[in-house]
Amino acid sequence: MERERLLGRLRSEHFDLLVIGGGATGCGIALDAAARGLKVALVEREDFGSGTSSRSTKLIHGGVRYLELAFKRLDRLQYRLVRDALAERSILLQIAPHLTKWLPLFTPLYRTYQLPYYWTGLKLYDALAGTAGGVPSRFVSGREARARFPQVKSEGLRGGVLYGDGQFDDARMNVSLALTAIEQGAAVANYVEVVGLVQREGRTLGAAVQDQVSGGSWEIEARGVINASGPWSDRVRRMEDASAEPILQVSSGAHIVVDGTFSMPEAGLLIPKTEDGRVLFVLPWLGHILIGTTDEAASPDGPPTAGDAAIEYLLRHANRYLTRRVERTDIRASWAGLRPLIRDPRATDTAGMARDHVIVGGPGGMITIGGGKWTTYRKMAQDAVDYAIRQANLSPAAPCRTASLPLVGAEGFDPAKAKLLETRNSLEADVAQHLSRAYGGRAEQLTGLLAEFGSARLAAGHPFLEAEVVWAVRQELAQTALDVLARRTRLAFVDQAAARAALPRVVELLASELSWDTERQKREIVDGLMRIDAGI
Ligand SMILES: Cc1cc2nc3c(=O)[nH]c(=O)nc-3n(C[C@H](O)[C@H](O)[C@H](O)COP(=O)(O)OP(=O)(O)OC[C@H]3O[C@@H](n4cnc5c(N)ncnc54)[C@H](O)[C@@H]3O)c2cc1C
Repeated sequence: MERERLLGRLRSEHFDLLVIGGGATGCGIALDAAARGLKVALVEREDFGSGTSSRSTKLIHGGVRYLELAFKRLDRLQYRLVRDALAERSILLQIAPHLTKWLPLFTPLYRTYQLPYYWTGLKLYDALAGTAGGVPSRFVSGREARARFPQVKSEGLRGGVLYGDGQFDDARMNVSLALTAIEQGAAVANYVEVVGLVQREGRTLGAAVQDQVSGGSWEIEARGVINASGPWSDRVRRMEDASAEPILQVSSGAHIVVDGTFSMPEAGLLIPKTEDGRVLFVLPWLGHILIGTTDEAASPDGPPTAGDAAIEYLLRHANRYLTRRVERTDIRASWAGLRPLIRDPRATDTAGMARDHVIVGGPGGMITIGGGKWTTYRKMAQDAVDYAIRQANLSPAAPCRTASLPLVGAEGFDPAKAKLLETRNSLEADVAQHLSRAYGGRAEQLTGLLAEFGSARLAAGHPFLEAEVVWAVRQELAQTALDVLARRTRLAFVDQAAARAALPRVVELLASELSWDTERQKREIVDGLMRIDAGI
């Protein structure tokens, strides 16, 4: 089995670099370093993306709000961040075309004086993107807005601005990064936790790890260690230096998901100003509508949850703009994530803090990378690997290659092939579309499982198939029912009742693939239900 092979390597080899954390940042670093020819290990204590990287708003963006802040505060750092993120947006759309797409976003405006303000701002956003831009922004008249976006309240609507940004499937992109890193030669494993560091003469030269599946413990040795544990980075830093001052300020962001009919299926909505001076998104995502997010100071202890106050806030703001009222009973899923923001002693709130990243070296040489955002994971990885090469005196065989290195699934992807998948395998159209987008060029290989496992859906009304459970174990390192329900498919993120109902069948399929006894099956059901109910 692939996981056993990778664990065997992690137990026996000596590495150039050990990466702690398998979110976007850690997997991006493992991929970058392996593609330069370095010998890389990565361990993730839970599943790839189970921390923050599966819980984002799913936008690949420079951030229009950060551009506004850059101008209001004459802040060159924010300005540079937006520009760099827009360049990254263009790269990600190219290296993972199956998991990403352009999304038009409409900003409805109800005061005439707002129109030139937002139009100028979004034109500037276009200009910053330069040739990397996609859909150019444009003014939308009141009449066009009412005709094209009937889901948006029309009373007093003066018009708005339409602009483009990127959208993606964050958890699948995270798994693709891990798989691509493995293809490039990295030894990568989920459910392996760093419980201490290996230190010799004051230098950090590896980590003590524990396999959360088998319980086995051992040490991984490496010339350099990179701590990419997101919101938990300060905790890992304290393994090296018990008195390390925190570099992070963690903030929590909640989302709710409702039926796809509440808003436009082809365009998102950017609500330009909330009560606390932020922006809010109402986005079509996987056939549903995703509404988010909030921004509140939080602690990294315990799983993040979308609390009552956050849910009320999201409903209140969405209902100011949507024609059809969203009630609490309409919510199909709610979940929250923790932002690993860089501490800024001058900041009065977390919403205004720059989404920059920093790299710091600890007293024993462990490198910590913190902050940033999903959109900039590739650039963050490049900076971290450059730093590690200098710090640990490594000799890479090649320079950074990730700007043009396709992620697993990108090769052979052609949106037109969905029709072929549909007819060749007698699939329904939504299923074929889903397989094509989620697996890209590998969708055809996945359909090879249909002869044995059939094309039964995991849940009525959702395009995810039982065969994907088997694929997730055999090809994508899934280890638990929740890995499949939340991060290989996204059922638990869009419909928690459907995920609950599908759980026993997923456990049954996994039990057969992974030879689970009845005790383990029972535990998976109890754990799975608890996590789904708590918001994953
Ligand atoms: C609500 C919200 C919305 C967001 N929306 C967007 C957006 O639309 N666009 C965008 O670009 N960005 C967005 N972001 C930001 C983005 O999601 C994060 O910046 C990014 O996911 C952070 O990735 P990471 O790898 O640093 O952290 P994580 O994904 O949290 O990964 C860190 C990993 O380290 C592991 N770990 C911790 N301790 C150990 C240990 N001891 N041993 C082994 N592993 C360990 C954890 O299990 C975890 O999986 C959003 C963030 C939030 C919270």
